[in-house]
Amino acid sequence: MPLREGEAIVLRTYRLGEADKIVSLFTRPFGRLRAAAAGAQRARTRYGGTLEPLSYIRVWFYERENRDLVRINSTELVESFFDMQKDYRMQVAAQYVAEVAERFFPERQANDRAFRLLLGVLRAMKRSGELGAPLLYFDYWLLRLEGFLPDLTRCAACGRVLDDGGYYGPASEGLCCADCRTPTTPRAVAASALELAESARGVTPEQWLGTSKPAAVCAAARRFLEDLIEAHAEKKLITRELLDAGV
Ligand SMILES: [Zn+2]
Repeated sequence: MPLREGEAIVLRTYRLGEADKIVSLFTRPFGRLRAAAAGAQRARTRYGGTLEPLSYIRVWFYERENRDLVRINSTELVESFFDMQKDYRMQVAAQYVAEVAERFFPERQANDRAFRLLLGVLRAMKRSGELGAPLLYFDYWLLRLEGFLPDLTRCAACGRVLDDGGYYGPASEGLCCADCRTPTTPRAVAASALELAESARGVTPEQWLGTSKPAAVCAAARRFLEDLIEAHAEKKLITRELLDAGV
């Protein structure tokens, strides 16, 4: 069986028996994969500390016939995001990014823009020590890349410009204005939050972090985008509750 190789971000690891681990990876050339890492639970493992959640690694692995799990042969650390996760808030934020990636990126579908988004957001968190602004950037681009981002500037029903903010509900595809709102669109999002979210368009994570964002507006924008993400995930996101619990 051929040995394959590529860059990857470790999304999560699970114990497998006494000594092994299952690793959920988002690889650059092959998309999301689940891999078995033999002996990874042992104190002295050939993987060293590379299989920590959110590590950016290079991985060599074998495909196995008729099996979902690939088998990791070796790994090499490219960049660690371990230290920043000693801060519990950062750890939860990183786990949120990993949970959303697992939910949205299908297995075995390469997506280079999604890979760059994950890496860019992790680096932004690590460099700035902030999580509100990086997560807002992540939420906005995740929805855009997946084709779920509604028009943030105009009412989906009448086309009016959303100068006074918009309204939405758990099942709504887009935003509507005050005149078009119905009992199915009970939640409001302020114009300032929509404008801030929209400003993530056309900038890199570095450029995005270069300007300060009012924390309350950032939080309002995230609440709206994360409602959309959760609606499309069709399941409650475990880490979102932790993030909301004052993290
Ligand atoms: Zn309207």
